[in-house]
Amino acid sequence: MSPDGQTLAPNVYDAEPIPDAARAEIDRLLSSGDLFRYTAAANAPVTLLEEEFAALMGTRYALAVSSCSAALFLSLKALDLPRGAKVLIPAFTFAAVPSSIVHADCVPILVEVGANYRIDMDDFAAKLPEADAVMISHMRGHTSDMDAIMALADAAGVPVIEDAAHSLGTLWHGRNIGTIGRVGCFSFQSYKMVNAGEGGILITDDPEIAARAVIMSGAYEENWKKHPGFQNSYCEWQNKLPLYNLRMQNLSAAVIRPQLPEVARRVAQGRANHDHVADRLNGCGLLAVPPALSPELRAPDSIQFNLAGAWTDEQARAFQYAAKKAGVSVQIFGLSEGNARAFWNWQFLTDVPDLPQTRDMLMRACDVRLPARLTMPELDYIADALIDAARSARS
Ligand SMILES: *Cc1c(COP(=O)(O)O)cnc(C)c1O
Repeated sequence: MSPDGQTLAPNVYDAEPIPDAARAEIDRLLSSGDLFRYTAAANAPVTLLEEEFAALMGTRYALAVSSCSAALFLSLKALDLPRGAKVLIPAFTFAAVPSSIVHADCVPILVEVGANYRIDMDDFAAKLPEADAVMISHMRGHTSDMDAIMALADAAGVPVIEDAAHSLGTLWHGRNIGTIGRVGCFSFQSYKMVNAGEGGILITDDPEIAARAVIMSGAYEENWKKHPGFQNSYCEWQNKLPLYNLRMQNLSAAVIRPQLPEVARRVAQGRANHDHVADRLNGCGLLAVPPALSPELRAPDSIQFNLAGAWTDEQARAFQYAAKKAGVSVQIFGLSEGNARAFWNWQFLTDVPDLPQTRDMLMRACDVRLPARLTMPELDYIADALIDAARSARS
């Protein structure tokens, strides 16, 4: 509150503090200097994180790495795709996702995305016959239709990787997102549900994919023996695969582990916050929040909505400007210069097709951060500011 009793625009950028439990462990690591995951004979913080994360998700294997992008890259390498293999991805995602495909010497094939931010199933079905793999990026935690995707991909014998970077805690028919495809990848970058600054983790039930990914992540010599639940097949791969050294270090795991018990609360709070603001925006008639798909229980830490009806670019910019004046930053993905989530900016790709449906969505889709820690008056401040800005832009 400001001195005159008005609520100031909430700060949506600061993260939650890291739980106190991290301090003792970080102190212990600093005083022993034990930062490398493979120094301790057993129970290194990174190993414990892998056990805990696999248990949380209900999967056999988890491999902690330096980022979600590294996890996506290792997933492709672990699938042993040939050079030049084609990998379908939704055209609405972060530039790091097609980049991970380029890094793995594969070729991303962009699939149209609808006004509800989810993959267009007609375009997916049309492009699947040329695909060697599928990487479903659940962008901003919006889950694409995994029933339809898995049915088509399984029938075609094409493996599915889930980019669940921003989906920790999301359920699909009650099942954890990231456990539906052959591999699921999550991020611990600061803007995600669990914040370690940087970091990522890969989960799978497939022992061969786990073995290959563990070795390529940098488990040189016999370090694979320090991974929980290792299989004999690891011996087969030792020295036969490149070591990309994308390991996580112990300090990151020490920051992440005490946040795992907080995930359920953050998810519940984030969803309640999101749904409150969504109801308010949907009520004003000018802004539209697409509903979740029916099997989906979301875990949002931000809100995306469309400018409903016919808006000009000028009106869209006026809306952004008016919201900003009230202290609320709105990103319209396609309107900001050089945005890393607008596919036409991915100039590192040799062949970027025109995808008119995705382009239209990006030109009118708005993005506002909505961290779980916000209070009801702060949420109402944001909703009021957005609604007032929409009205003034259209008046
Ligand atoms: C954040 C994010 C990534 C990249 O994660 P990093 O850990 O920063 O590499 C990939 N995909 C999506 C959908 C993301 O939100």
